[in-house]
Amino acid sequence: MLTRFAPSPTGALHLGHAYSAVLAHHAARGAGGRFLIRIDDIDGSRSREEHVAASLADLMWLGLDWDGEPVRQSDRLAHYAAALDTLRTRGLVYPCFCTRADIAASLSAPHGPPNGPSGAIYPGTCRNLSATEGARRVADEPHCWRLDMASAIASAGALMWDEAGQAMRAADPAAHGDIVLARKDAPASYHLASTLDDVAMGVTHVIRGADLIASTDVHRLLQALLGLATPVYRHHALVCGPDGKRLAKRDAAASLASLRAAGADGRALAADLREGRLPAGYSLRMP
Ligand code: GLU
Repeated sequence: MLTRFAPSPTGALHLGHAYSAVLAHHAARGAGGRFLIRIDDIDGSRSREEHVAASLADLMWLGLDWDGEPVRQSDRLAHYAAALDTLRTRGLVYPCFCTRADIAASLSAPHGPPNGPSGAIYPGTCRNLSATEGARRVADEPHCWRLDMASAIASAGALMWDEAGQAMRAADPAAHGDIVLARKDAPASYHLASTLDDVAMGVTHVIRGADLIASTDVHRLLQALLGLATPVYRHHALVCGPDGKRLAKRDAAASLASLRAAGADGRALAADLREGRLPAGYSLRMP
């Protein structure tokens, strides 16, 4: 068994991250397997080196050890570009030149385009540009690359994934619409990078929060399109704060750094989290 914990270095880790890391670590170590860390630093404008160091220090404080050096997404850009090329060759992605304002204006709906699990659903404006026009504009206009969701689903057929401990789940990526897979300032989206990395790292079990179930619909589709192996998934309950809402990076009181500063024992906290016991005021909920 090989599991991973994949923090984005855009803020401090909190109890929710600790819960996820503890479950993934425990699953691997309990089975005599490996536990890897991946730094999801694909978003160069929001990622900070100080958060990388602080996250690793938090994991050590929890007593979680990992195998090898942490993998960095920023070192893997060539792999993401190659996968995008494969999809481009098969005509499953297209360049999109729309700005946010264009997307909002292309619909007469008063609140802009409807939202899907990955944000606003793209209305499809650039999907039908001719190949010649697309190629001409790619040369000198800012653009992103979108997955042609309908063609991708038609090409992949019906898909399932193994949700550990439950029946197989049907993957239903259609609700995301034509998602962005790459843009100039972020050479691969979370969906593309995460799918490729999990396979390249040899992850057998992806253990992560249930807020990412809808993302797994897309990851399963990308695996099928790119001929990649599918890990087993386990989506766990989310840690909620005293207000009943899922923790966010801005909830400073729940950050591992502040718990540590307040004198908490990291290893004891990890042992409690493993058993689903949370500090007073916090709870676990399925979204
Ligand atoms: N970096 C992502 C996050 O922190 C990882 C999600 C995942 O486990 O795939 O949300």
